[in-house]
Amino acid sequence: AAAAAVVVHRKTKKSGRWVKAMEILKEFEEKCGTPIPRLKQVADAMIVEMHAGLASEGGSKLKMLISYVDHLPTGREKGLFYALDLGGTNFRVLRVQLGGKGRGIVNQQFEEVSIPPSLMTGSSDALFDYIAAELAKFVAQEGSDFKQSPGRQRELGFTFSFPVMQSSIASGTLLRWTKGFSIDDMAGQDVVAELAKAMERQGLDMRIAALVNDTVGTLAGGRYNNNDIDASVILGTGSNAAYVERAHAIPKWHGLLPKSGEMVINMEWGNFRSSHLPLSDYDHALDTESLNPGEQIYEKVIAGMYLGEIVRRVLCRMAEEAAFFGATVPPKLEEPFILGTSIMSAMHQDTSPDLKVVASNLKDILEISNTSLKMRKVIVELCNIVATRGARLSAAGVLGVLKKMGRDTIKGGEKQKTVIAMDGGLYEHYTEYRECLENTLNELVGEEVSRTIEIEHSNDGSGIGAALLAASHSQYLETDES
Ligand code: BGC
Ligand code: MG
Repeated sequence: AAAAAVVVHRKTKKSGRWVKAMEILKEFEEKCGTPIPRLKQVADAMIVEMHAGLASEGGSKLKMLISYVDHLPTGREKGLFYALDLGGTNFRVLRVQLGGKGRGIVNQQFEEVSIPPSLMTGSSDALFDYIAAELAKFVAQEGSDFKQSPGRQRELGFTFSFPVMQSSIASGTLLRWTKGFSIDDMAGQDVVAELAKAMERQGLDMRIAALVNDTVGTLAGGRYNNNDIDASVILGTGSNAAYVERAHAIPKWHGLLPKSGEMVINMEWGNFRSSHLPLSDYDHALDTESLNPGEQIYEKVIAGMYLGEIVRRVLCRMAEEAAFFGATVPPKLEEPFILGTSIMSAMHQDTSPDLKVVASNLKDILEISNTSLKMRKVIVELCNIVATRGARLSAAGVLGVLKKMGRDTIKGGEKQKTVIAMDGGLYEHYTEYRECLENTLNELVGEEVSRTIEIEHSNDGSGIGAALLAASHSQYLETDES
């Protein structure tokens, strides 16, 4: 009888822990709720901030940055152009031979180089020297299958995926770093001048013809292939959107009215925040402990850099307060950012009946073995909660942009097609996230309108887009009018 009593006692203790763990999960799930009415409030709050950000500099958390791109590629761009795309954990260099009207891209080559993490938090010279050196190597390998008119200086489009206050198409100062970059001596510097100096140090003779955000590059690259593209969204390490605004709807723009009457706006939507955003204690703690506390709040619930980290934080609490993984907290689980979103996505999308992908990732990444199937199911559920909230909130952001552009309704029976160019690793590789975003957007706009809206995956359009914008802002301006 004594032995039986012990067993019963242990069982209650164990199930008590389980109950506690489920409580933690439930409470988190409730905090993450995104019912449709709330998403509509988020979209409307976004529109209010869009107006405020367009009205005056500093008028809103949404910077609504003027890109100085007032005409998008037409297809007539011609010649050899380079691009450099910097913004996440990798950067890319590429060259494209543009054939002119009706011929499109006749040749292209690219290379992807990872950025040593130490350079993300070092000095600006170290970062730019590294990039310029890689670019110089790449330029040196230019083959005879690329044609440059003799005597012509090479030109480059620079995609720099951070908030930049531009003063022209090819100049601008960094407002602040995001996404894990933090280089103190860069703030307030002209990023084009910094790159130009580094290129000079490499002995590389090349003119920087355009400085663009990745959203603007993606919009430009998308438009080159599809005339209906009017907006772009990046869902990768970070998140952001750009769209074509009517110039007279930008009160803070005091320059000449562009011929096109239009201006591409880099929203910097990652910095959006609103009391309507469903935020939990885990999100607040993540923000406080981040490199940029108080900033990029929307980004911190929707983007790839953070989703896995949110999952880790909830698991940590379950380990600490409910002994979810046993008597001790697995040490690896306490390491910030150890659980990347690609791991989270692999676990979330594990279709094996015994969830062996979850098991192997827990083992390999967190050094947690001996999990029960029941525990692994809880982990999948947790990933689902975090991804669903992120995807639904990003759909609300897209609705905000569509509404601002007046594309959320069908006017006078005429169905203007709206295509949004999307890119980024999160969108590309996290299928559950992507599908949830698309389904939620359809639900938000309704069936009839959803038939006029299309999301197009623009695979690495941001680099090509920058090269195209370099072409249309070339010092030689060779376009093919014939
Ligand atoms: C940056 C944006 C960028 C986005 C996507 C954000 O963190 O602030 O400039 O467009 O990430 O790369
Ligand atoms: Mg990509």
